[in-house]
Amino acid sequence: MSASISRRKLLGDGGQAILAASVTAYATPSFGTRQSHSAVRAVDYYQKLGVTPFINAAGTYTVLSASTMPDEVQAAIALAAKQPVNLNELLDASGEYLAKRLRCQAALVTSGAAAALVVGTAACVTHGNDSAILSIPTDMSTLKNEVLIQKTHRYGYDHALRNCGIRFVEVETLEQYEQAFNERTVMTHFFNAGEGQISREDWVRVAHQHGVPCFNDAAADVPPISNLWNYTQMGFDLVTFSGGKGLRGPQCTGLLLGKKDLIEAAKKNNSPNSNTIGRGMKVAKEEVVGLVAAVDWFLSQDDAAMEAEYRKRAERIAAQLKNIPTVKTQVFIPAVAANHVPHLLITYDQNQIKITGAEVMQKMREGKPRIELNPSTGGAPASAGLPGGPNTIVVGVWMLQSGEDVIVAKRLREVLRSAVTT
Ligand SMILES: *Cc1c(COP(=O)(O)O)cnc(C)c1O
Repeated sequence: MSASISRRKLLGDGGQAILAASVTAYATPSFGTRQSHSAVRAVDYYQKLGVTPFINAAGTYTVLSASTMPDEVQAAIALAAKQPVNLNELLDASGEYLAKRLRCQAALVTSGAAAALVVGTAACVTHGNDSAILSIPTDMSTLKNEVLIQKTHRYGYDHALRNCGIRFVEVETLEQYEQAFNERTVMTHFFNAGEGQISREDWVRVAHQHGVPCFNDAAADVPPISNLWNYTQMGFDLVTFSGGKGLRGPQCTGLLLGKKDLIEAAKKNNSPNSNTIGRGMKVAKEEVVGLVAAVDWFLSQDDAAMEAEYRKRAERIAAQLKNIPTVKTQVFIPAVAANHVPHLLITYDQNQIKITGAEVMQKMREGKPRIELNPSTGGAPASAGLPGGPNTIVVGVWMLQSGEDVIVAKRLREVLRSAVTT
């Protein structure tokens, strides 16, 4: 991973000045006369507000603020914040740059993958019919409004598409899919980490036989890095990724990648254009730049090196738990496309260690420092492909910062040991 100094370390004893100085060093604008050069002392607003940060042993979960940005990304954002720009120019230029780097026709920075689902669907509904931009989602009578989807791909982001006034038509088999197209079919939608009978290749082929665009939601599906172009090159007309999950850009950003005409249509439906469905999904200049910087950072990483590093972290934690009776550990990679990185699975016999996974999670949360385990711990799987169960502890190691695996390991050992029956 990057040779980053963690924010926590920077903000530790007397670290505030270091952070301010490093941001200033990066962020001196070209026309220095208008800006003050004095280092501003960064106020720790988490501390001021009484919100306690934690060690992220969970993964990229939205409610847990998903990821932290590498230093390169934070520095690019701090610099971008210093000068005004025209947002349309920035969106066009960043889109062109991203399309080149990500090997697709066109790209748009959106305010998250969920927003990409909204403006991407709006693009399909209003394509070639600009007056429809004003009509959606309430005046659909003259518009195509059916989106085909596999029944098993209905998921927690349905609402993003339904915001555009569409309705889903569910299919299960390839035959049903082939027969479901009609004059109201406006788009087909694929959940990349979902399971179902119909392959990606068949999904795209049949949609294109009917001249209908298809969208693939791959929000949580990097690494591997190549996924950033795999699905557009497979033929999906629109593909989205979260900016703030594996890419480690600003949490409020997403990538919409795909065909030029559809990306142009998505832009028309998006902020900064007023009276559009996307006007409330504004992306600020700092966030646009932050996502571009995050893509640059991510493309400079190496899949094998990332996987080896995560595996090492999981093994370091497992090693600390070895001598606790009945504890079994296993490093695993979820079998689905999402969160496809090594995690640590810990199981134990609850007759000998008298604590539930949910209680372990609570104790970790209450310790100092506060630690968040993967939300699958002690309960239902938190995302596709993860295990669950009352005596199951899942440690997501990929968002840990340097040295934190040791802290997590020691605390886990302490919590489990204290529950061993004698
Ligand atoms: C996280 C996620 C989203 C939403 O992404 P944001 O960038 O938070 O808007 C959409 N779809 C799937 C499958 C996701 O995992």
